[in-house]
Amino acid sequence: MTISVGNRVFKDADALEKLVIHAATEYEINGFVEDFDDVEITDPEYDEIHAHLKKIKPDSAAFEGTSPSTATTVGTVVVHDPPMTSIDKADERKDETRIDVYNKWLKDTARLLGKKLGPTIQVDGVDVVTPGELELAQSFKRDGVALRINYVKGQLVSAGLRPRDGVNGTDVTRHAKHIIGVPEKLPHPFTLSLNGEIECHLEDFDAINAKRDVDGEEPYKNPRGYTNGVMGRKDGKESKGAMLRVSYYSITGFDDWEKYYKTEGERARWANGSTGLNLQNHRKKGYFVRMMKHSKYGELGQMEERAKKIWYYTDGVVLKVNDLEEQFELGHHGDDNVKPPLGALAWKYKEPTAEAVITGIEWKASRVGRVVPTALFKKPFVLADTSNSRATANNYGWMEERGIGVGAVVTCKKAGKIIPNICGVVTKAIFDPPKECPTCGTGLRLHISDSGNKDLRCDNKDCGAKHVHSWIHYMSNMGGKGLGTAAMELILQTGKVKTIDQLYQLSEDDLRESNRFTAREALLALAAIFVIIPIKDNTKLRRLIDAARGSKQKIEGWKFFAALGISGAGRTAGKALTAHFNTFEEIMQADESELESIDGIGSTTAEAINLFFSDGGEEMVTRLLDQVELILPKKGPLSNTNFVMTGNFDLGKPHWERLIEDQGGNIQSGVSRKTNYVVQQHGKTDGTPSGKEKKANDLGVEIISIPDLEKLL
Ligand SMILES: [Zn+2]
Repeated sequence: MTISVGNRVFKDADALEKLVIHAATEYEINGFVEDFDDVEITDPEYDEIHAHLKKIKPDSAAFEGTSPSTATTVGTVVVHDPPMTSIDKADERKDETRIDVYNKWLKDTARLLGKKLGPTIQVDGVDVVTPGELELAQSFKRDGVALRINYVKGQLVSAGLRPRDGVNGTDVTRHAKHIIGVPEKLPHPFTLSLNGEIECHLEDFDAINAKRDVDGEEPYKNPRGYTNGVMGRKDGKESKGAMLRVSYYSITGFDDWEKYYKTEGERARWANGSTGLNLQNHRKKGYFVRMMKHSKYGELGQMEERAKKIWYYTDGVVLKVNDLEEQFELGHHGDDNVKPPLGALAWKYKEPTAEAVITGIEWKASRVGRVVPTALFKKPFVLADTSNSRATANNYGWMEERGIGVGAVVTCKKAGKIIPNICGVVTKAIFDPPKECPTCGTGLRLHISDSGNKDLRCDNKDCGAKHVHSWIHYMSNMGGKGLGTAAMELILQTGKVKTIDQLYQLSEDDLRESNRFTAREALLALAAIFVIIPIKDNTKLRRLIDAARGSKQKIEGWKFFAALGISGAGRTAGKALTAHFNTFEEIMQADESELESIDGIGSTTAEAINLFFSDGGEEMVTRLLDQVELILPKKGPLSNTNFVMTGNFDLGKPHWERLIEDQGGNIQSGVSRKTNYVVQQHGKTDGTPSGKEKKANDLGVEIISIPDLEKLL
């Protein structure tokens, strides 16, 4: 019996479980989630699938401590004591409304604490419990990445993410000092832990993506995924400038807390205040989230309205018992401190939806050959304060099943506030899918995945859509800026480009056809292709582009080689090849064994290079060379001679390296059998041999001094 959750259909509980485990793992490693069919899983969708699994298979391995990801996470582990737990959620389910969950939580909490509830009132014809004697606090639920930062005697000692088991958190101490709002030292020598969420504010996120687009890189999908990705980077330096911020929501492991605060509200004020932890930014805004009093149900709606106008992403309101002693008394579900606490509830916002009429469906081939639909709306609909004329439409099978064609009236929601998504159909219409690939015209195949998703696929391995990424790689390596995925896909749609060299044949008219690009955009795209600085004056820019068409772009041979994007063969391989061979033609015609004999080229790379050129690459590159002029290394008396430099040099290493390269010599980073000379001026001060010296001695490679080198030059 199949199980359907939202838009997805699963063969059985095992298939659903597999996806939940896969998604949780992917999130930790990549910072974004795609299912087995390359379809993005949005946060609300994940929550829904997760909740469903919990219902049908509560003892699933997906809820246990060890996830498959523990073995692959970067860095070590920070053990959380007490565990970091998640909070029970009040969201719309099939059998329970959010109000049902809210009412039940208030009743249970009042009963356990021995307090009286207020009168039950009617809201839109529904019974709603009022808190009465229960004193509650509320704050925005931040949708970031949870972490705990540990301080010993006021000094930051470690930081770890919240793991699924609540205990073994991935160590992110190396990133802590680059997160805005994390002090390395507290104003008082307290031993305590700060719990919070790291997030990227929407404005910063937009700026980061805008820059990526200029650099020809793919935009990040959402702030949370981006944040997770940064936390997974191995080197702490890589999070510098990443614009991540923290907002704290609790303090644990603090023995003296009762001296300073008794409630949620007092704690927040103490943490932000100058007599407490002074967690404030330069504008005197606190990093600890504001805790407000929650006295009635209606306030949740007000918070939801306000959330639309703030600069960070929140997906709900957290309700907590205000008195911390009472929270402690309530404890956790099943008396197990890794389970959610009984004293807190997360009220999730209802996702806003809008109705609209589909006026067109655009099918696009993706890099993996899936042909995916996007619904178009001539009359745009408004969601989350923005006007939308496009919405993603899941997949072929989903549309077919629901009769979603041109003319259908559908409801859309904005999952994660990024791209609207069709979530239901009000009025059906005839669904008329394409027969041929919109990019290359190849007949499409119907593909049914393990989880039952039906998709259209283009099996042509030369389908242009599959090449978009290699074209972007080529352009950015050649120095052309500004052609991101979106622009490149528009170029693809012109149908004029099948191979890289055809990019140089594009005209302004080709790009402007069907209003894909405006005149200015077309000129900017061409400026990127011909690596011209995009000046403001269109007429002058047009003239520069025309001139560039008539001349060749000059570029170092190794950079050009790396731009071809051959698997495993980048700049190092490019340098080795251009040093070894006299012309680029020789590189293209070399057989595998000759390639493999070159230092820095392994057998897998040799095979990939050979395959690339013999499988149409040579013809393509020959055409490219009408447009590009390669600068190849000088050939001289030292051609095909390999040098390794070791130790310090009076005139610096680069001085000698340049002289060697001027004579056609090749510089290697490490000693191997293919090394001809190791050059050394000053050995180690203690007289012991360096690693490179030892290796040279082992392999019988000659070690020469500067006077010896000068004789060779
Ligand atoms: Zn195709």
